[in-house]
Amino acid sequence: MLSKSLVFLKKNNLFRDIKNRDSSQGSRIIIGGKEYINFSSNDYLGLANHPALIRAAQQAMKKFGFGSGASRLLCGGSILHAELEEKIAKFKETESALVFNSGYAANTGIIPAIAEEGDAIFSDQLNHASIVDGCRLSRAKTYIYRHKDTANLENLIRKTKSRRKIVVTDSVFSMDGDIAPLKEIYDICLALNATRCTPDTLLYTDDAHATGVIGKGKGSLEHFGIKPEPWIIQMGTFSKALGSFGAFAAGSKDVIDWTVNIARSFIFSTALPPCIIAASIAALELIEKKPVLIKKLLANRDKTAKGLTKLGYDIMGSETPIIPVKTGSIESTLKASRYLLKKGIFAPAIRPPAVKEPRLRITVTAAHTDEDIEKLIKALGSL
Ligand SMILES: *Cc1c(COP(=O)(O)O)cnc(C)c1O
Repeated sequence: MLSKSLVFLKKNNLFRDIKNRDSSQGSRIIIGGKEYINFSSNDYLGLANHPALIRAAQQAMKKFGFGSGASRLLCGGSILHAELEEKIAKFKETESALVFNSGYAANTGIIPAIAEEGDAIFSDQLNHASIVDGCRLSRAKTYIYRHKDTANLENLIRKTKSRRKIVVTDSVFSMDGDIAPLKEIYDICLALNATRCTPDTLLYTDDAHATGVIGKGKGSLEHFGIKPEPWIIQMGTFSKALGSFGAFAAGSKDVIDWTVNIARSFIFSTALPPCIIAASIAALELIEKKPVLIKKLLANRDKTAKGLTKLGYDIMGSETPIIPVKTGSIESTLKASRYLLKKGIFAPAIRPPAVKEPRLRITVTAAHTDEDIEKLIKALGSL
């Protein structure tokens, strides 16, 4: 039935296929019996296969079994879920926190819950697809501001008459690896809230690639020294730097209570199994206990970014371990990715519609060795 559309994708080099690993996630992976140095995962701290996470999951399985059997509101959650939420609230210095089944579920659940009919959402042009979908599901009107352009944002906010205003942004952009100007965005929201008796401007940050990476692991607010005000909602994931699975929202008790009652992706979905929650708890403890992990990550990131820039590559404004490498057309990007594969390096070609400009998306982790990084730079040097 869709064969014509599929032919179109294939003709235009837009067809994607799934690559399945034969190994655990890590800096080395095996695909189809061949080993590659992996520059494609978001497992920034190399925790996805860490013994502490595996042990925590195994112990939780012994006590709680495997499946969770129901949604949180129907007793699908465990005391581990509550423990993780308490830990997150403490970590983020907020009154309250809530665990979600994934970052995708968090964004498509929370945004429609807090942005109702008559409200306005202001969303960065390069926000993650799950934010875009959250905005689409909301009955509020969405205004897209130019990427990181706070003058454009402020102008749109001032021109818009609405009850509640909600600014939504990735704090680290997932395909460009740059950081949102959160201090300026915070100041705009603060000024608006200061002129009214009740706060009606909210700031929603998506820390999926910031948690465990910037701000000594605590994420974007810590990175910019911003106070977690009650009108800020911090969303983050356990699935990237924390090597586990699932997501969270941290904010005021009112916002979290409202979310529990209204967010459909929270209410109508089965709770995460306790063993996954236990692994997330272990990962949070690890990043607090071992700051050396983040140091190593950032050192590896700098080494890679410097090496690629020196070769003359455009890394498109990257400031984080996500390093896009501009490679021109879709065809030349695919060619570059295939060339690296032949050299034993896995770095995916990212094409439209995921991004406007095709690129290789290199992600560096704390688990990469100097030799891994040198091999990548050498291979890209000979491209
Ligand atoms: C990955 C990602 C998500 C989705 O998180 P999952 O836990 O993978 O569903 C949301 N927002 C951003 C910015 C992301 O990069």
